[in-house]
Amino acid sequence: MTRRETTRVRRLFNGFNPIVRGNGNGHHTDRRSPVDGIAGGAERPISSPQEGGRERPRRSTLNPSRPEQFDVIVVGAGPAGSAAALVTARAGLKVLLLERGEYPGSKNVSGAALYGSAILHDLIPNWWEQAPVERYICRRMLSFMSPETSVSLDFRSTTYAEPPYNGFSILRPKFDRWFAAQAEAAGAFLLNAAVVDDVLWDDGRVIGVRVRREAGDICANVVIACDGANSFLAKKAGLQREFHTHEMSLGVKEVIGLDEQTICERFQLTGGEGVAIEYLGAITGEVHGGGFLYTNRDSLSLGVIGQISSFVEHRQRPYELLERFKAHPSVAPLVRGGTLREYSAHIIPEAGWDMLPQLYTDGMLVAGDAAALCFVAGLYFEGINYAIQSGLAAGETAIAAHRASDFSVQTLARYTEHLRQRQVLTDFERYRHTPGFINSARLQNLYPAVIAHGAERLFRVDGRGKQKLLPIAWETLRHFELKPFQVLQDLYRAGRSFGW
Ligand SMILES: Cc1cc2nc3c(=O)[nH]c(=O)nc-3n(C[C@H](O)[C@H](O)[C@H](O)COP(=O)(O)OP(=O)(O)OC[C@H]3O[C@@H](n4cnc5c(N)ncnc54)[C@H](O)[C@@H]3O)c2cc1C
Repeated sequence: MTRRETTRVRRLFNGFNPIVRGNGNGHHTDRRSPVDGIAGGAERPISSPQEGGRERPRRSTLNPSRPEQFDVIVVGAGPAGSAAALVTARAGLKVLLLERGEYPGSKNVSGAALYGSAILHDLIPNWWEQAPVERYICRRMLSFMSPETSVSLDFRSTTYAEPPYNGFSILRPKFDRWFAAQAEAAGAFLLNAAVVDDVLWDDGRVIGVRVRREAGDICANVVIACDGANSFLAKKAGLQREFHTHEMSLGVKEVIGLDEQTICERFQLTGGEGVAIEYLGAITGEVHGGGFLYTNRDSLSLGVIGQISSFVEHRQRPYELLERFKAHPSVAPLVRGGTLREYSAHIIPEAGWDMLPQLYTDGMLVAGDAAALCFVAGLYFEGINYAIQSGLAAGETAIAAHRASDFSVQTLARYTEHLRQRQVLTDFERYRHTPGFINSARLQNLYPAVIAHGAERLFRVDGRGKQKLLPIAWETLRHFELKPFQVLQDLYRAGRSFGW
């Protein structure tokens, strides 16, 4: 943007003191500010739907002669939003990326293990060479915990240590800022400290958004809502219902500083190698959830995630679980001597296929966590890669709509095809039974303890004769009062969730 344009944008967003950055490579040759003329919005108010209602108003209060200002408005500069803004800006569309935080990532919380490096590699070749990544993840562990014991599945592969790598640990404030800058470099306009409060309607069609300020109405042919879990915008547009507490989890996370050499020694890593550990069982007590620990360059990211309904039911506080997790005999030696750098908390939509909203309407698409596209399936905890994939799919849909000059619900419905081509809806559909199984009481509260108890018996040497596996298994089941038909039932559910 020229200095004059920047001044206009600043004036428009007066009072928010937004950080406005230029478009980087000058893709936009239009010398008008992308927000020219918007200030008139205060005098000509645009209708908005009723609070939280799913009814879309058909009444038009919009002056039809008013020019639309952007081709695409993306709300939220998380991974979904930056991916959508990047791909649409690259296609030459005039794109506005609105972020409520002081800068992208300033309010965002993740583990964060970013899987699917190859997806970003397709978009930005060798992206890891320029992005602020911490460590490439070449070792993954799944630990089943009882209060005293842990049994782990430990996977390590040298193939994950080769470009394009399988995944990286990242710190979201750094990564999101970098990713949004790529969208800017492609020509998108990023406006920080811009809280979107509403969608604008004209004759039942979404035609823009209302930013929290006087005269903050901005129009576009397509609005892409990437405003994260519990999306305010998707609800305003009548696309998403209110969630049940069993569909949402709360994650609390700490970043603990530890020097690089100590991390390498403790986790048996060399150079840029990293490990991602997921924990199930006693660390969350009766609360349905789990824990995670990821190695960064000179810090550890660790946290606990629990279903909101079970936090309430068992009257547990998230930070108490986090303290219990850090004190567990298998975790305490890993974090010993570290210093707390950061504490954060965020909700996670984790019911998968069953909670997906309507993904599009006239003039609007929903992507990432806003569309509940977070893949939480026991073995997998992947939200960032699905946010990027769905952001790209939404961007591709918006590009096709612009080529056809048709932003109707019929054209935007092709979003689902793009999501299938990018394996998003296919994955969620394939694993649709998994979240319910993973959150079942026996799997959460009993089996990790069963596995830990069985292993304890298996490896104990106390002078008594050695038993074979079947008697140990039988004695363990009896100890936990598990009936054979319950085990068979769970084996079937496990098969349906992960097997076929
Ligand atoms: C504790 C925890 C650990 C996790 N660990 C992992 C992990 O290891 N790996 C993984 O893949 N996933 C993980 N996830 C899930 C992952 O964080 C999300 O799936 C992912 O961030 C979704 O990206 P998004 O762009 O859709 O939304 P977000 O990252 O939430 O971004 C939404 C953006 O929209 C902005 N915004 C919101 N409302 C408005 C508004 N009204 N106006 C303007 N801007 C707005 C926000 O400030 C934010 O920048 C974790 C989540 C949590 C909570």
